[in-house]
Amino acid sequence: MSERLDCDVTVVGGGVAGLAAAVALRQSGLSVTVLEKRLCGAGASGVNFGGVRQQGRELVELPLAARSRKLWDGLNAFLGEDVEFEATGHIKLARSEADLAELERYAAAAAEWGLELTMLGPNAVRDALPWLGEKVVGASLSPTDGQANPRVVGPAYARLARRLGVDIREMTPVVAATRSGTDRFTVEAAGLTVTSRHLVNTAGAGGGLLAAAFGEAAPVTPLNPNMLVTEPLPYFVERSIGVVGGDVYVRQIRRGNVIFGGGSGWHDAEKGLARPVTEQSIGGMLRTLQLVPGLTHAQVIRSWSGVDGQMPDHIPVIGPSSTTPGLVHAFGFSGHGFQLGPAVGVILSELVLAGRTESPIAPFRIERFAGHAGAAPAAGPVHVEH
Ligand SMILES: Cc1cc2nc3c(=O)[nH]c(=O)nc-3n(C[C@H](O)[C@H](O)[C@H](O)COP(=O)(O)OP(=O)(O)OC[C@H]3O[C@@H](n4cnc5c(N)ncnc54)[C@H](O)[C@@H]3O)c2cc1C
Repeated sequence: MSERLDCDVTVVGGGVAGLAAAVALRQSGLSVTVLEKRLCGAGASGVNFGGVRQQGRELVELPLAARSRKLWDGLNAFLGEDVEFEATGHIKLARSEADLAELERYAAAAAEWGLELTMLGPNAVRDALPWLGEKVVGASLSPTDGQANPRVVGPAYARLARRLGVDIREMTPVVAATRSGTDRFTVEAAGLTVTSRHLVNTAGAGGGLLAAAFGEAAPVTPLNPNMLVTEPLPYFVERSIGVVGGDVYVRQIRRGNVIFGGGSGWHDAEKGLARPVTEQSIGGMLRTLQLVPGLTHAQVIRSWSGVDGQMPDHIPVIGPSSTTPGLVHAFGFSGHGFQLGPAVGVILSELVLAGRTESPIAPFRIERFAGHAGAAPAAGPVHVEH
């Protein structure tokens, strides 16, 4: 017989967004159940590049990114664990005059949204990155951006959530969700039925399927960045590095491994698997070597990919459901959700508790996709497993 549970809030998806929400909701006194189809933090939250950057994000995301950035400063103390966050700064390189003009335009626009970037000329870039191989005409620096260890952050949130009394069920895929006439949600997972007053959809790339169960269109496609890491080397890449166009990004951790990415991996939606693609890895290596020739003899020890949800306009869905009171969404982070995660969790808790948040989330409303092809009818339980 299926186990039955009742709580205030059911959270579907144990990535950073869902776990941060679970922690904030539990700290406000609500009973919370997290349903995660695999292991907490094993989705995009655990396999990403580890970039904690505001620079280059869509302008409408910057207020959330700024709110999150403040939380990153205190995250070790908050979680009671070292998540290896370091404000190393993020430098975005221009390899042509057209790139440089793009950086200048972005810096001017970002300043109006409160993000101060410093433009660097070619000599200043060389001073900052003396090992640079590629001809670079300029760059912009975001000194407060940084990096953290994604393998640690999700599990650390999950451990804190458990200590606070959140009921976390792993290897528990949600297969159906409905809202009954009694204003309660019924969520069916493997061997478990959970009823609750609120439902939080933080199912990542699976978020569109759960939204569809409530008649909401959210055209999520998989985003699979291709990632590699080298053996440990003497520490020299002190900043997190990106380029205009985003075809290569590099950072080095204090233990010496250089992590880099660029291009797309492969994803099997049926099996929920992501893998790197050899040609993409080779392309990423060649572009990285142009940027960092000092890596010429470095051994790549591992490559991987993951699955984030990507929206057509490259910004997430965050906010209340347009069809169903008590349901809130945060998914489809389009490659930006690791940095945003801590603030998104708090925002979700505000939406559940007060029905509003101080953060400007209007651009992220799910209604922007209303009428999009693929909208599901509102009736009945809908299969939501990936
Ligand atoms: C390779 C890669 C590199 C990236 N690099 C960066 C970066 O440098 N900086 C940055 O800010 N962002 C980056 N991102 C994006 C970032 O990782 C994600 O946006 C973020 O982690 C999303 O968090 P989430 O909690 O929404 O989703 P996830 O971490 O994917 O969590 C969603 C969870 O929901 C679960 N789930 C789905 N369906 C169901 C169901 N039916 N029942 C139960 N559970 C379900 C999944 O198993 C998963 O664990 C990268 C992403 C990838 C893949």
